[in-house]
Amino acid sequence: MNFCSHCGEAVTLRVPEGDNLPRYVCDACGAVHYQNPKIVVGCIPEWEDRILLCKRAIEPRYGLWTLPAGFMENGETVQQGAARETLEEARAQVAVGGLYTLFNLPHISQVYMLFRARLETLDFGPGTESLEVSLMREDEIPWEQIAFPVIGESLKLYYRDRAAGRFRLRTGHIERLPGPERRFRTRIYTNDES
Ligand SMILES: [Zn+2]
Repeated sequence: MNFCSHCGEAVTLRVPEGDNLPRYVCDACGAVHYQNPKIVVGCIPEWEDRILLCKRAIEPRYGLWTLPAGFMENGETVQQGAARETLEEARAQVAVGGLYTLFNLPHISQVYMLFRARLETLDFGPGTESLEVSLMREDEIPWEQIAFPVIGESLKLYYRDRAAGRFRLRTGHIERLPGPERRFRTRIYTNDES
């Protein structure tokens, strides 16, 4: 951030009085521009024994598969956001069900919330951010071509819970390990005993 969104003057990055983290501060009008984590909402759209995945038509991770999900907008609920993203990316109407996974991604300051959802019709297709949209059985999931660790971890939990015949909220966090390679550490807070 270079300029104040209130008055247009230059901002400086410093710790405001009484605070303990650096913030973008406008010395002209006094505004403090806080930056906080973003919430990503999405769905696991189900149809019988299949789920709907989208092949990304945008960077990052172009050409890889993901669940329909995206940044929550102001003025909507998390469920509305999850349904909207599914409509935008997969042109699919869903009835949003229970929250299934909640992952913290502190290295990119995001919180992911994925809901189970029921596809209302088989009328779907790629939105502008997708190359292709496909209903897949478990043995058709392209595990080596999943766009993001949070999606792969959520799908692994999903199939484990489905095999056990019981879904429950799964929470955890995923951190990117230092270094040039894409390596991650995952911790699931909820385990089979809890
Ligand atoms: Zn200002």
